[in-house]
Amino acid sequence: MLEKILIANRGEIALRILRACRELGIKTVAIHSDADRDLKHVRLADESVCIGPAPSIKSYLNVPAVISAAEVTDTVGIHPGYGFLSENADFAERVEESGFVFIGPRPDTIRTMGDKVAAIRAMQESGVPCVPGSDGPLGDDEKENIRLARDIGYPIIIKASGGGGGRGMRVVHSEAALLNAISLTKAEAGAAFNNDVVYMEKFLDNPRHIEIQVLSDEHGNAIHLGERDCSMQRRHQKVIEEAPAPGIDEATRNFIGERCANACKEIGYRGAGTFEFLYQDGEFYFIEMNTRVQVEHPVTEMVTGVDIVKEQIHIASGEPLRYQQKDIVVRGHAMECRINAEDPDTFMPSPGTITAYHTPGGPGVRVDSHIYNGYRVPPYYDSMIGKLITHGEDRTFAMARMRNALSEVVIEGIKTNIPLQQDLFKDAAFQAGGTNIHYLEKKLEEK
Ligand code: ADP
Repeated sequence: MLEKILIANRGEIALRILRACRELGIKTVAIHSDADRDLKHVRLADESVCIGPAPSIKSYLNVPAVISAAEVTDTVGIHPGYGFLSENADFAERVEESGFVFIGPRPDTIRTMGDKVAAIRAMQESGVPCVPGSDGPLGDDEKENIRLARDIGYPIIIKASGGGGGRGMRVVHSEAALLNAISLTKAEAGAAFNNDVVYMEKFLDNPRHIEIQVLSDEHGNAIHLGERDCSMQRRHQKVIEEAPAPGIDEATRNFIGERCANACKEIGYRGAGTFEFLYQDGEFYFIEMNTRVQVEHPVTEMVTGVDIVKEQIHIASGEPLRYQQKDIVVRGHAMECRINAEDPDTFMPSPGTITAYHTPGGPGVRVDSHIYNGYRVPPYYDSMIGKLITHGEDRTFAMARMRNALSEVVIEGIKTNIPLQQDLFKDAAFQAGGTNIHYLEKKLEEK
């Protein structure tokens, strides 16, 4: 087991990782920016190192500063959390070259999955269903591109291979707009991602976002932990997540889950990962793989009983997977609300000091958050200040518990999106289950 882990992140996920380390008897090193001295995990960690000023680019994204902190503290493993450097292949490489253990996949896996054309190719070769499309980069042959789009059928979407965060995509509804859209997306991708490779996919008009959680070790074992539905999104940001996905039966879960687990074996995947799919008319279409722990991992933990962060650490320590597929049973239903420090109507960030804080509780209620009474939410980082997770014997009970929990939370001094979450948990279509990825945006427009 790794003796000491440096947590290369902040906020709730840093605290989540710290808790896992403590349970495993592992020493912890917190790194933080000037603005983050008062973070809860910094106070709880065995050691802490200030690595730079508030802006992320000078602290949490500063690779030499993170590596130096690991060196001076005699760290063994580095956990990147999510966001920041977690999917940066060069960082993972630097970590390993410096003699530390990167708690995540091999750098070359991260690199492949960060390139969408390469990722789709790897998935096709491993038998994971993908969106019908160009099966590779678009060339300069205009006639060929017109023919491809006709074969796929409009509408289609042009996507940048190096794109991310919902940027570098353009939907095309007619042949008249096709060639212009390709050259525009190419130019934008070149400027934004320093990579002008673009490809073409069928545009799905009514999809849900369903993703599969996997765990895979260095000894050729891989399992899936079922699916999550994260269709409730605003501007490609997830707002509510749940497990299992409404309407997905065990046979379907096993069908798609086994394909993902097999793909892990084929590509020699190491650690926890997520295969993201669009799901429409009963079919799964792979869109991308996240090579890190995700914000929404708790809903899977609640229904399977597997501690994903601890398993990441076991795998990084070189141990074989501690679970077999037959050990994984999905029990009940879990929901997660992301709690953001923002205006619930305008979505403007709302940093500031928390003047009163009361957490909800009771059976099946979990709060993953670093905030406390008197904590100052800094203006420099993501506005998510925590996650509220509920578990119940079925979806109806998990939702009832969430309504209770949301009504119990008190956060004063800053604005939060809790009123929006309360609205959503009263929404008839969401209560029925299976709303698509456009549902929330449409609802907000109508409002
Ligand atoms: P990113 O890495 O930028 O998040 P993704 O490939 O994951 O890019 O796509 C982001 C979002 O764009 C998806 O969640 C979905 O809403 C939309 N999208 C991507 N591809 C398609 C497609 N083929 N059809 C419909 N929507 C799509």
